[in-house]
Amino acid sequence: MGAAQNVTGSCYYLEAAGVRLLVDCGMYQERDLKDRNWARFPFDPRHLDCVLLTHGHLDHCGLLPKLVKEGFKGRIYCTPATEDIARIILLDSAKLQVEDAKQKQKRHEQEGRKGPHPEIPLYTQIDAERTFPLFSTVAYETPVEIGRGIHASFHDAGHILGSSMIRLSVPGDNKEDRIILFSGDMGRRNTPILRDPTLFKKADYVLVESTYGNRLHKENATIPAELAEAVNTTNNAGGNLVIPSFAVERTQELLYHLHMLLREDKIPHLLVFMDSPMAMRVTEVFSRHRNLFDQETLELISRGEHPCDFPGLVICRTMAESKAINHIRGTVIIIAGSGMCTGGRIKHHLINNITRPESAILFVGYQAEATLGRTILDGADQVRILGQEYMVRAQIQKIEGFSAHADRDELFGWLSALKSPPRHVFVTHGEPEAANEFAAWVRGKKGWNISVASYQDEVTLD
Ligand SMILES: [Zn+2]
Repeated sequence: MGAAQNVTGSCYYLEAAGVRLLVDCGMYQERDLKDRNWARFPFDPRHLDCVLLTHGHLDHCGLLPKLVKEGFKGRIYCTPATEDIARIILLDSAKLQVEDAKQKQKRHEQEGRKGPHPEIPLYTQIDAERTFPLFSTVAYETPVEIGRGIHASFHDAGHILGSSMIRLSVPGDNKEDRIILFSGDMGRRNTPILRDPTLFKKADYVLVESTYGNRLHKENATIPAELAEAVNTTNNAGGNLVIPSFAVERTQELLYHLHMLLREDKIPHLLVFMDSPMAMRVTEVFSRHRNLFDQETLELISRGEHPCDFPGLVICRTMAESKAINHIRGTVIIIAGSGMCTGGRIKHHLINNITRPESAILFVGYQAEATLGRTILDGADQVRILGQEYMVRAQIQKIEGFSAHADRDELFGWLSALKSPPRHVFVTHGEPEAANEFAAWVRGKKGWNISVASYQDEVTLD
């Protein structure tokens, strides 16, 4: 029902033994697919028994308020950390939907026209809050019966905190149970704080993501050295280091790396500002779920340290605190959202630093086309920020190794843990090229039955 030959709007609809369920109910973020957010669901939300949620990213949970608004009354099963992150993401999304609707209304009035969609928000904060009582949390590795002998279990996907792969066990009539495995979004091995993705020995059917199914990532082991280099050169030049960052996971990962570099004396003690209210709330979620951290991070905690906190870290809660950063002389590090510079407090930090050759803008995440971040990264001489033109004189840098998604070899390695060939593998959550090349790669190496799913494909798993 989504993320089929594209990478957002994740959603699967399943019927088994009379139970109807969804795995994920995500929002579409690709511009040309956004209409689907407004269309009727291709199923009746009132007749669904439950939703299984892999993780808290918007493209996996973002249409849950719409589902509830249209009559869904069942449970939403997920891990406790996923619930906490989904609440933050959904409230933020509702706020953006309301702002968008207002702007659309204004634009349409000025232009004297009507748009294809009503000038009302897709959902509001009240709609988002109505979703929360339906969350039903499940610990990792603990099967829960969701009806008629169907069991679901959640397993660490190593993608963001609380992220899961979901294993469904469905009783067959007069035959063995069938195991259906959903990879969800799969993380990389050796990501700071997070544990590695779970491996499985057996599955009858597998639904695997393919975001980077035709690519190999750069080594993530060089990230600390590259980050230290960026901090030290900017400090020597006397400017500020401005890092646009995503609030969920990437910011916490950055804080972890900065913490480690400080401990190892690889960077000087500078003030580090985390200037994103959303990142602050997500970091609090990390503090509440320490049991999910990897071994290295648990050892750090046992020595009395927090992975995302260190001397010199300043959290900006208010706009006034954020603006006060401009008055500090000497080098500071500023981490702010949004990650692609499309909104948020990063914009005024860019205004204050982008014209200074001694400052640096450091990109640590994917920059989609037509975003301000991408324009800067592509080397524009001049950019428009909040209605004003600015010359780009700051140093523009990028660290490549950051990624929250497994690459081709990591995806293949995960599938290879299965001891015997599944009856069928369906490739989802990837652009057509990535998905097709990954399917061909697996078919070539293993000879398995594997195909790329299309939007609203219907299959019988017998
Ligand atoms: Zn994700």
